[in-house]
Amino acid sequence: MTQSCGRPFSEDWISGYLDGAISRSDGRRVQTHLRHCAACRRLLSDFREVRDLLSGFHQVGAPDLDRPERLPAQITVRDMFCKDLPSSWIL
Ligand SMILES: [Zn+2]
Repeated sequence: MTQSCGRPFSEDWISGYLDGAISRSDGRRVQTHLRHCAACRRLLSDFREVRDLLSGFHQVGAPDLDRPERLPAQITVRDMFCKDLPSSWIL
């Protein structure tokens, strides 16, 4: 499979390269291509941004409805997922 930039692999490999999920030899093929392809470096950067954003999410367990006294008074989307966003952002 050849992509528009000429890379002989799918963008899944770029994502896999970032996560260390592809073989070492495939990783070398991706790395070699990245050296001279700005479009794929941009794609790698986008994948990295998404991965970093997702790693910032906090896992929140389901509320314990049998013990309402332990429920927080109010949970906002910001409390659950977006603690690190600038407070000037309106969600
Ligand atoms: Zn490319």
